[in-house]
Amino acid sequence: MQYNVAQLLKGPIGGSSNYNIDYTFTEAPRITDQVNGSVHMVRTHQGVLVYGELDIRTTLTCGRCLGEFVWPSTLDIEEEFFPMVDLHTGRQLPPITEDEGDQRIDFDHVLDLTEILRQYAIADMPMKPLCTANCVGLCRVCGSNLNQRECNCSDTEVDPRWGALADLLKSHKG
Ligand SMILES: [Zn+2]
Ligand SMILES: [Zn+2]
Repeated sequence: MQYNVAQLLKGPIGGSSNYNIDYTFTEAPRITDQVNGSVHMVRTHQGVLVYGELDIRTTLTCGRCLGEFVWPSTLDIEEEFFPMVDLHTGRQLPPITEDEGDQRIDFDHVLDLTEILRQYAIADMPMKPLCTANCVGLCRVCGSNLNQRECNCSDTEVDPRWGALADLLKSHKG
């Protein structure tokens, strides 16, 4: 997700361009599976303001049943990026703020949205992902996914460590 913004930096303050984003992440570590949308980039006094809405789809693991599910969300992005070098003089520019390391436009005038997208996506993810609000999770005894099938453990309180053995005995008896 890299964009060359040399033309934008050369232009006047307020100049803008739009970029459509349609990106599938295939390499690990994946931030999200897919991102779609468009961003506007506007030349500011000191850099480039990037804003827009991005739809993401992320595969998460349910905290109750451990099943994977696709979680769609929308990120509302607004970040200013600052050039590392003055386009006209070629002089290196000092950082504007201390924590803008992820918002520098590099020496080749390339603006990379990847790190910002990662931060927004992480901030947006649920603390305890659930495949559905009423996911019933795994049986504590036999480990069955109770969303998919009911087991017969519900009325017997068995130490989970004995679950496998109990199952074995059950199958033995037929
Ligand atoms: Zn679940
Ligand atoms: Zn069970």
